[in-house]
Amino acid sequence: MDCIRIRNLEVFGHHGVYEEENKLGQKFVVCADIFVDLRTAGLNDEMSQSINYGDICMFMNDFMRENTYYLIEAAAEQMARALLLKFDKVLSIRLTIKKPWAPIGLPLEEVAVQIERGWHDVYIGLGSNMGDKKDYIVEAVKRMGQDDDIRIIEKSSLIKTKPYGKTDQPDFLNGVVHIKTIYTPSELLVCMNELETLAGRKREEHWGPRTLDLDILFYDDLMIDSKDLTIPHYDIKNRDFVLKPLCELAPWLRHPVSKKTVREMLDELSAK
Ligand code: ADP
Ligand code: MG
Repeated sequence: MDCIRIRNLEVFGHHGVYEEENKLGQKFVVCADIFVDLRTAGLNDEMSQSINYGDICMFMNDFMRENTYYLIEAAAEQMARALLLKFDKVLSIRLTIKKPWAPIGLPLEEVAVQIERGWHDVYIGLGSNMGDKKDYIVEAVKRMGQDDDIRIIEKSSLIKTKPYGKTDQPDFLNGVVHIKTIYTPSELLVCMNELETLAGRKREEHWGPRTLDLDILFYDDLMIDSKDLTIPHYDIKNRDFVLKPLCELAPWLRHPVSKKTVREMLDELSAK
C-alpha cells in the first residue's frame, strides 16, 4: 500500500516512569509509516490530495512535547489515535517511538515500541422489537456517530421483519449500518453492549424480545472465534433480515469463510 515514510524525527518529551525523566525530559526519536492512497496526488501533482508530511512532523513534535506518559507504549498508542483522528486521509499508521537514552544502567543503542493502528471497515446489524423500535435504532446510530473512534459511512433503510428463532413475539425492525472504527473487535463489542444497555436492554431470554440488538456482522475480512465473539457473525447466511439491508449497502461484500457474496447468500436463502 502507498505510504509516506518519516524516519528518525527527533523530538523532546518528558515520558518515563522515573521522576527525573518527567522533570528533565529527554530526546525521543519517532518513525512513522503513514498509509494513504497517493495515486490521485501523484497523477495530479496536487498537495491537497495528499497529506503534508511537514504538518505530520509538526503534529508529532507538539504531541510528544505537550503530553506526558509513563510509558512510550502509551505515547505511541495515543499519538497513533490522534493522527488517525486529525488527518482524514490516513488509512492506517505504523508508529515507532525510540528512546535512545532509556535510563537502564547498561549500554544500549536504543529501545523502541512499534505499533500499527488504523481504521477498520465494519458492518453492524441493528434490530429492535420492543417499544419505539425506530427510535431505539436511530438513537443508537446517532450515539455511534458521536463516538470519535467511530465514523458512520452509510445506513440501510429499516425493514419490518417477522421474529426469527423464537416466533411468538412482536415483529422486528431491522437494518444495517456501515461504519469505520479504530476499536478492536472486542472493544467494539463492549461499545455495542453499552449502547444496548443504554437502550434499556435486559438480557432475560435467549432470542427473546429486545429494545436493541447490535451485532457485529463483518470486521474487515477478519475471522475470529472466541468465547464472546464470532466474526463474521455466525448466522448471517440464514437471516434475511440481515442480508436484505446488507445487500442494499454492499451486495458485493464477500464472506471470508464461505467466499460467497452478500447477494449470493441472499439469493440462495430466497430460493429455499
Ligand atoms: P443474538 O444477537 O444472537 O440474538 P445476543 O444479542 O443476546 O444474541 O448476544 C449474545 C452474545 O453473543 C453477546 O453477549 C456476545 O458476546 C455474543 N456474540 C458473539 N459474536 C457476536 C457478534 N459478532 N456480534 C455481537 N455479539 C456477538
Ligand atoms: Mg446480539
